[in-house]
Amino acid sequence: MDWPSSQDNGSFWFDSLPQAPNAKPPDRLPYQVDVAIIGGGYTGLWTAYYLKQHRPDLDIAVFEAVTVGFGASGRNGGWCMGLAWGIDGMLARPEQRQRGIELLKAMHDTVDEVGRVSQAENIDCHYAKGGTLNVATLPFRVQQLKEHVASLHALGFTDDDYRWLDESEARERLACTPNHGAAYSTHCAAIHPARLVRGLAETVRKQGVAIYEQCPVLDLEPRRVRTPHGMVKAGIVLRATEGYSDTLPSQRRQLLPIYSMMVATEPLPESVWDQIGLRRRETFGDGRRLVIYGQRTLDNRFAFGGRAGYYFGSKMKPVIDPAEPLLDRVEANLRGLFPVLKDYSVTHRWGGLMGTSTTWRPCVSFDQTRGIGMAGGYVGEGVAASNLAGRILADLVAGRKTDLTRLAWVNDTARRWVPEPLRWLGVKTIRAIATRADREEFTTGKASKFWGPLYARLIG
Ligand SMILES: Cc1cc2nc3c(=O)[nH]c(=O)nc-3n(C[C@H](O)[C@H](O)[C@H](O)COP(=O)(O)OP(=O)(O)OC[C@H]3O[C@@H](n4cnc5c(N)ncnc54)[C@H](O)[C@@H]3O)c2cc1C
Repeated sequence: MDWPSSQDNGSFWFDSLPQAPNAKPPDRLPYQVDVAIIGGGYTGLWTAYYLKQHRPDLDIAVFEAVTVGFGASGRNGGWCMGLAWGIDGMLARPEQRQRGIELLKAMHDTVDEVGRVSQAENIDCHYAKGGTLNVATLPFRVQQLKEHVASLHALGFTDDDYRWLDESEARERLACTPNHGAAYSTHCAAIHPARLVRGLAETVRKQGVAIYEQCPVLDLEPRRVRTPHGMVKAGIVLRATEGYSDTLPSQRRQLLPIYSMMVATEPLPESVWDQIGLRRRETFGDGRRLVIYGQRTLDNRFAFGGRAGYYFGSKMKPVIDPAEPLLDRVEANLRGLFPVLKDYSVTHRWGGLMGTSTTWRPCVSFDQTRGIGMAGGYVGEGVAASNLAGRILADLVAGRKTDLTRLAWVNDTARRWVPEPLRWLGVKTIRAIATRADREEFTTGKASKFWGPLYARLIG
């Protein structure tokens, strides 16, 4: 792919950084490092962070094609959430339930771990653990969500983790239209994503990790890293490229690049927030399949997003044109839920890539013999998950056998996606089914009996 010459990823988050990114290509690369990490997002940087804690003696280098946080880590919705893709599916299957519970507990702890490290390392990422609301915007979802909370309680979780909020309590927290009640989880923090990733880079630099920006790696290969600026020998090479993994020829079709799109409003006056809520900076979504997600930023903007599309041939757009029509739908969804925003403008429109494997759940793997490892496949839910994945990968590389290295993500490798045009047709079909199911539910107010279950079966 042609990496852009500009380092601006187009997001509100990059625009609101205290200092605009200004990376330079490396003058000179080292001859050799112990560990080379490809990708300067959360996964790469968390892995470097924990690896340096376990093995301060290791020479670690991160290679980033553009600038730290250029990818999803510097442009996401800022939900640091105690859940990850695939866990709900595991909880639903008796034979996988125990492993699902272990993962869910680990994800709960991870939200606190991100807060702990941010505080300990003075990373001012606007962390606010206000929890998250899954709002029933359709009446039939009330029963579904209540049952979901009850099923989590039956597994040993309590009101301190998940609870049902009736309509008045839910509206007090978030006055969207409509709101029939909400399932509330305490395990989510709102963050400023770009501040987290840039702060993390600063932290690992201070620990002695070298970060080479404007330095794309040409492939994932054992024992070496090739870049346009030269080659570096490496004992271990780790892939942390998520939605951009197709840029590495040996990794083609491992992770499907799917887009998520976001908008941010101008700062809104307190009088408007009095009508909307989110006083504790809770994040929120609703049960639709074409996922939506929102947060109130520290400077009182609405940051709101929705899952979007896939381009034929896994085409990767490094930056999304603000005029992209998919963004119109995201903005319309926001305005539809909050009519009070009619007099306020959207100041930023952007999008980015997330990575999805054929298992639709994250994976962390390490092959000691080849010295190659990787983590990713978060399907757009990687803010907290990348911290857990980074801790697991660091343990695997350091040869530590821990509770984390026994989690179900470890070596849960997926087969590759099918070649085109089947891949495009498959994704389009899944998306069409999701759209159909959502549309039917919003028009009839009833659960989709055919398209809904079909969608659930297809994505496991
Ligand atoms: C719009 C949007 C909203 C999202 N919202 C949320 C959310 O609210 N909550 C949540 O949990 N998740 C969310 N996600 C997903 C989350 O942001 C990602 O899962 C997470 O940031 C992945 O981190 P990463 O480090 O693995 O990948 P990335 O942050 O994408 O980092 C990969 C890096 O690798 C670099 N790179 C790629 N190829 C090469 C190469 N060949 N050589 C060198 N460098 C390379 C890229 O430039 C990039 O900086 C969202 C994603 C998007 C796009």
